[in-house]
Amino acid sequence: MRTTHHQVGIIGAGFGGIGTAIRLKQSGNNDFVVLERAPEAGGTWQANTYPGAQCDIPSALYSFSFAANPDWTRLYPLQSEIKSYLEACVKRYGIAGHLRFGADVAEATWNDDSQLWHVTTAGGQRYTFSTLVAATGPFSQPNTPEFDGMDDFTGPVLHSARWDHSCDLTRKRVAVIGTGASAVQLIPQIQPAANRLVVFQRTPTWIMPHPDQPIRPSVRRAFRRWPMLQSALRRMVHLLQEMMVPALVYRPALVKPFEALGRWHLRHQVADPMLRETLTPRYAFGCKRPTFSNKYFPALAAPNTVVETAGIECITASGIKTRDGRHHELDAIILATGFNIVDNEFFTRVRGRDGRTLAETWSRDGLQTHLGTCITGFPNFYTILGPNSAIYTSQVVTIEAQVAYIMSALDLMARRNLRSIEVRDEIQQHFVNRADRILEGSVWNSGGCSSYYLGRDGRNFTFWPGFAFTFQNRMRRVRPGDFVVRLAGRPAAEQVAR
Ligand code: NAP
Repeated sequence: MRTTHHQVGIIGAGFGGIGTAIRLKQSGNNDFVVLERAPEAGGTWQANTYPGAQCDIPSALYSFSFAANPDWTRLYPLQSEIKSYLEACVKRYGIAGHLRFGADVAEATWNDDSQLWHVTTAGGQRYTFSTLVAATGPFSQPNTPEFDGMDDFTGPVLHSARWDHSCDLTRKRVAVIGTGASAVQLIPQIQPAANRLVVFQRTPTWIMPHPDQPIRPSVRRAFRRWPMLQSALRRMVHLLQEMMVPALVYRPALVKPFEALGRWHLRHQVADPMLRETLTPRYAFGCKRPTFSNKYFPALAAPNTVVETAGIECITASGIKTRDGRHHELDAIILATGFNIVDNEFFTRVRGRDGRTLAETWSRDGLQTHLGTCITGFPNFYTILGPNSAIYTSQVVTIEAQVAYIMSALDLMARRNLRSIEVRDEIQQHFVNRADRILEGSVWNSGGCSSYYLGRDGRNFTFWPGFAFTFQNRMRRVRPGDFVVRLAGRPAAEQVAR
């Protein structure tokens, strides 16, 4: 099979991949493709279709800044609307012709002689790219715990992130394992029709009252007619989210009022003191990801629901046995057990300059990047939503800032006639050390919980250490001195560092 060359290869057609593609197109660059393993665009919003899937960032902020959508029907967007929004962006910005669906990247290897990325898909298509952008998303690989006896269970086992819509749970005895953001949304959807619902809770989540509302048609018309209204709302939501940063990053004691609100919400919705006790988090608000719901506590307090905290001993042919020896008879099991972030299989498929994979590099050094976007040893390679890039407003804001940085890097390469750029080790180390120092006192590190924000070594590899606006400012352009560069037309060994 022949090899196709493009200047830029983008892996993933979610917000990150589509956002990068749009910006490239707008800059006049048409020499790129987007490789997407799924049959359609949408990324996490294509994969996560469980009942009740909704984003808990307000819709005004959960969209590209350059592509406001006056048609959101709710204050908080539903999964189907977000997916449609992304599909509409693909059409509106003319990038459909660049998308390659069913293209699962099996291998991406940097070749230091050709100064190119060599990419092969599972279907055998071969590409070379000068620049590779991994927009594969932190939530792309479901975490499926291996409980003893899992294969013996005779009923269906569903993961929240791979929902099987043909599976009818009506009048069934259903278990949900996990009580994170996905479970909080799907439990109220399945509880009313289930015969019996057993929720296996390992750690309770802070649940806040949900301010979600439908957006009235008159408001939507106003947004269409006066776009500045929606952008003012966007700025306001962004600012409100930014106001959380001092508490979360710098002064965790300031989260107390949110804990009080969470406890009030629980008292207000759950009458049974024993159940309340079970559902009360024993760690600081924000340490694990908090979420919103007005329906979750009532669903747990319903007569057909049991909240089980005894821990899972094993799975049997007909149900789940707990560590204290009891057995729950079940017809179906739902795994709302989140995602494999640290050991995402994709990391084993990307091989850098010295022949090591991203998985090998990160298992040795921890998940380290420069600005969540580039990695020493991986020239001309960028990660969207990579380690230490998450800001506390909307990840679409993160993505846009990262895309600006990538565009600036491509511009630098074009202006200086460079074949490759690679972030210097000491620059990456400086960023990592600074992030570690600041995040050490954050609620994520010191709030008394374990969470997917922290790696096995306890390092917070998730968050940007500060405000969103500082990230946006830092990402406006690359600093050429941060990189080892190679000039086009010179031998590979001849490196120019400026
Ligand atoms: P998650 O937050 O990682 O929650 C996983 C849940 O499964 C936790 O309750 C965890 O318990 C439990 N669990 C994991 N392994 C287990 C095991 N072996 N035995 C028993 N329990 C186990 O995953 P998620 O709910 O899918 O959410 C992931 C992320 O996706 C969110 O944090 C968010 O960023 C995003 N998301 C957002 C929304 C939204 O915008 N509303 C909705 C869904 C997802 P422990 O807490 O004890 O580990």
